[in-house]
Amino acid sequence: MGVTDLDWWLIERQQECGGFNGRPEKAADTCYSWWVYSTLALLNHKGKECIDIAAARDFLIARQSLRGGLAAHPGDSPDLFHTHFGLAALGVLGHEGICCNVDPLTCLPGDSLPLHMTKENKTKQRTRRTARRTLV
Ligand SMILES: [Zn+2]
Repeated sequence: MGVTDLDWWLIERQQECGGFNGRPEKAADTCYSWWVYSTLALLNHKGKECIDIAAARDFLIARQSLRGGLAAHPGDSPDLFHTHFGLAALGVLGHEGICCNVDPLTCLPGDSLPLHMTKENKTKQRTRRTARRTLV
């Protein structure tokens, strides 16, 4: 599929600094790197290829605080929300050494889902529920 109107709207969220904003005329914000790029990744259109990935990563890395964590904007204090979504964005952007690949749908490490969704685990859950009902 080609680049859609939605793709273009998302692509235009990337600012000269490499970060993304949530809407026109707003400053780039760490968390929007997640919201925008994960959406492009989910759409799986050509729009993803129009993003300057290196600039997006550099923007996020520059939001690090010496105290730890990531801040929304330069000069802000780091917080859990922006640290979480900033790291998740780096995972989706494929930043080496930050974390494994992050699933753009769930915002979880890509390999954590099969652990919960395996047939074996579902069978174990069903067996436990049946056993509990039998005891009652
Ligand atoms: Zn934010």
